[in-house]
Amino acid sequence: MAKVDSTTVPFRLVIHGGAGAIDRESVSAQSEQEYRDALTAALVAGRDILAGHGSAMDAVVATVQILEDCPLFNAGRGAVFNADGKNELDAAIMDGRTLAAGAVAGVTKIKNPITAARLVLAESKQVMLAGEGAERFAALKGAVMVSPDYFFTEQRSADFLRVKHLEELADSVGDHSPEVDPDRIAGTVGAVALDMHGDLAAGTSTGGITNKRFGRIGDSPIIGAGTYADNEGCAVSATGKGEFFIRVVAAHELSALIKYRHISITEGAELVIEKIANLGGQGGLIAVDRAGRFAMTFNSIGMYRGTIGADGNPETAIFR
Ligand code: ASP
Repeated sequence: MAKVDSTTVPFRLVIHGGAGAIDRESVSAQSEQEYRDALTAALVAGRDILAGHGSAMDAVVATVQILEDCPLFNAGRGAVFNADGKNELDAAIMDGRTLAAGAVAGVTKIKNPITAARLVLAESKQVMLAGEGAERFAALKGAVMVSPDYFFTEQRSADFLRVKHLEELADSVGDHSPEVDPDRIAGTVGAVALDMHGDLAAGTSTGGITNKRFGRIGDSPIIGAGTYADNEGCAVSATGKGEFFIRVVAAHELSALIKYRHISITEGAELVIEKIANLGGQGGLIAVDRAGRFAMTFNSIGMYRGTIGADGNPETAIFR
């Protein structure tokens, strides 16, 4: 692989806060500002690490952690409820330089699942730990543990009761129209970064889908599906109805398209989203390659997203 001169490599950070039916009518001016402020705070934290010659891995963890701590997003504190009325969280991280990866799935007591995913990467011989085993490992390695009640928020509880009611209604008449589709509630978070050493990293964290079946694992913690990074391809984090991203192995698919077909990252991202759309899926993804080219592509109505580069100015967007 060609050696990258660290003095000529610009850094780039791209983040998402979930894709879904987010339109101007459903987001008030105040709520839009709150989302933009949260995305900006995350971008600025990541930028500070990258501008100081920090690693893409550190930037991804710091960025995702800020979004996990913000109750607006469906990750960490603001995770959605499953069909049991509980919060089961998933997260993954991958280092594009070494292809090392770590993930946790179905965890209920880890404050920041992204940090636990990194502990799995750095301090275990495994790639993915689930449920109680993941929690025991995270606690042993010093991750901040919380009571499951920490993830209770009034907003998510109300969303859960509404979606549950709508789904029961729809089930009773065999209707699965988009109005009652639980993936209307967006908010999964992800970050992809290119650092000044020329290395890529990707991370994703989520509470999954509102009213998901207990034990259901989405694409976010599955390496290759919702999260992937390869210095020779690109770094990818996805959001949307995870089952489709798993079936398309979406994040790896995009990295492989860049690596083997040498197409542009935007073209590659569009091809992957088209494949998801052809199966009936909705969502989006963010990606960055080693040259700092990036994509923020989605076929849903909106996607919370943002990016920052060497000029230091955060850019955020929500609607199409
Ligand atoms: N992809 C996530 C999952 O299926 C949800 C989301 O991105 O909104 O668990």
